Amino acid sequence: MPVKKVAFISHQNCQLHDMGEHHPESPLRLKAISDELKRSELIQELTCLQAQPVTLEQIERVHPRDHVRRIRNSSPIKGTIMIDPDTALCPNSLAAADLAAGALVQAVEGVMGGHYQRAFCSVRPPGHHAELVSSMGFCVFNSIAIGVAHARQAHGINRIAILDFDVHHGNGTVDIFKDDPDVMVCSSFQHPFYPNRMHDIERDHLIFTPLAAGTDGIEFRRAIERDWLAPLEKHQPELIFISAGFDAHEEDPLASLQLNELDYVWITEMICSVAKTHAKGRIVSALEGGYHLGALARSVHAHIQSLGESCL
Ligand SMILES: [Zn+2]
Repeated sequence: MPVKKVAFISHQNCQLHDMGEHHPESPLRLKAISDELKRSELIQELTCLQAQPVTLEQIERVHPRDHVRRIRNSSPIKGTIMIDPDTALCPNSLAAADLAAGALVQAVEGVMGGHYQRAFCSVRPPGHHAELVSSMGFCVFNSIAIGVAHARQAHGINRIAILDFDVHHGNGTVDIFKDDPDVMVCSSFQHPFYPNRMHDIERDHLIFTPLAAGTDGIEFRRAIERDWLAPLEKHQPELIFISAGFDAHEEDPLASLQLNELDYVWITEMICSVAKTHAKGRIVSALEGGYHLGALARSVHAHIQSLGESCL
């Protein structure tokens, strides 16, 4: 791997967001990832950075002020409160959400500034279910969307692609960019399945790949090639974002697709090849789902290694 061309952006306080002992979106997810990167020594080949918190101005490029205020005002002083049937806030949750979104802004700065070519944000809470005015599905703010807004506002990037291979449809990202043809959103997801929203909107810049329960890697690869490649070639994205969820893994307890680490290597290489052709190799990837700790750690390792191996 070319030395230090990939940044690994995280923060220990992302592990302080705790929705309860039995919640699958657990602080242990980030620990499992960093333990695996240390064990394999891949960590030594990465530029490791502490995430910085997002600013209110950067959040408000995406989410309306009233919504942000409502979420901030619901933060508990102790214990947890539910902001959606699946999503809780504890006293440290908003600080973690600010770091998760801030990591995306930082990744954009680093990639656009040429400090590294690619970045993986190992952060939580995830973001892709967060719609314009709803926090849901373990997500508080849409971190990827906040990164996209920063790339456009601060760096004048016009054409962007967000590639979402989490097992759940990225309804929040679709909600935010559904009327914005400069941002292509490609999303593969188990269907029918949670969240069952925003999957039947028809626009040229929204590319949806619904997959039946039980779909394996061969079928997954075929569907992605069939659906994503031609539209991406046409769109010519100048910067690529990945909503990197690993809950389509065959060992994941929340869903029923049958992918494994090699499929994550495959899709990462495919994305790298599009980035090489159109985006000067630039990729910003952020963790979304993935709930089997071992499978998550191995899959993230495979993803980051592939991001590094194909750097320009
Ligand atoms: Zn998911």
